[in-house]
Amino acid sequence: MVETQQENKRCGYVALVGRPNVGKSTLLNHLLRQKISITSRKPQTTRHRILGILSDANSQCIFVDTPGLHIKSTKALNKAMNDTVINTLRYVDTILFVLERLTFNQEDELVLQQVRKCKVPVILVINKIDQIREKKRLLPHIKELVNKHKFDETVPISALGGHNLERLEMLVKDGLPIGPFLFPEDQVTDRTSRFMAAEMIREKVIRQLGDELPYEATVEIERFKLEGAVIHVHGRILVDNPGQKRIMIGSNGDRLKRIGSAARTDMELAFGGKVMLNLWVKVKGGWADDERALQSLGYLD
Ligand code: GDP
Ligand code: MG
Repeated sequence: MVETQQENKRCGYVALVGRPNVGKSTLLNHLLRQKISITSRKPQTTRHRILGILSDANSQCIFVDTPGLHIKSTKALNKAMNDTVINTLRYVDTILFVLERLTFNQEDELVLQQVRKCKVPVILVINKIDQIREKKRLLPHIKELVNKHKFDETVPISALGGHNLERLEMLVKDGLPIGPFLFPEDQVTDRTSRFMAAEMIREKVIRQLGDELPYEATVEIERFKLEGAVIHVHGRILVDNPGQKRIMIGSNGDRLKRIGSAARTDMELAFGGKVMLNLWVKVKGGWADDERALQSLGYLD
């Protein structure tokens, strides 16, 4: 009896691909109904490959959120991010190719070229339809897109508004290969709490600093320890130069305090307990160009 049930289960990897900023991480968080991937208005917020696992009684979707592909991959960090995407496409069972609004530009074309090399089903996801004012333009746009590639399905959605996500979820689940679950049913991500803590801090940095800081700031967790009922987190924000350090700290440390308190709120929600967060800012010049530094920070596979 139990064996028969096992035989009916479906499980597989589903990649979210698309150029930066189309809403891949937002979509993942909404599909999982919790925040596991950080998002912002700035491109290149997602730097690592993150798994988000959605299980029900019969199926397990293992979503792979990837950093967007970049045309200008001159810096070592960009190259590492592009390699992550291309390696991901080699082992997935389904691809969600994400576009936004009525746009299809040169960067989208570049991503599509990678997608075309894969033999697995591709679902075209058109996100941010809440921002399309003339809805009647959507159908002709879709017609043009399906001329470019024979997508297996097309699903217009709003990741932020939760529009049409049930349909997308159903299509993805139905397309998964038959096989046993690869992760425990209650596991939501492959990342540690320590990693999530660093990402939450990095999200607040990106959101608070807007365009004042290039995306090069990164975060290291020096300490992550449960003492009694409280999680103690010591985080270090690495920036490129002393000017950026001043900006990050803000006058009287105001900005750093805001970053810290917003990140702490996220952590307490995610970890379900009280968090004591200490943050420092440290200058570490030119790390985005330095392959060795990237390795030590875990950016290279
Ligand atoms: P990614 O780089 O593809 O992972 O994009 P993000 O998930 O970080 O989202 C980029 C920006 O688009 C964020 O500011 C999101 O809030 C916004 N966004 C994502 N989905 C939607 C949507 O359905 N509608 C609108 N209006 N904005 C969205
Ligand atoms: Mg992202």
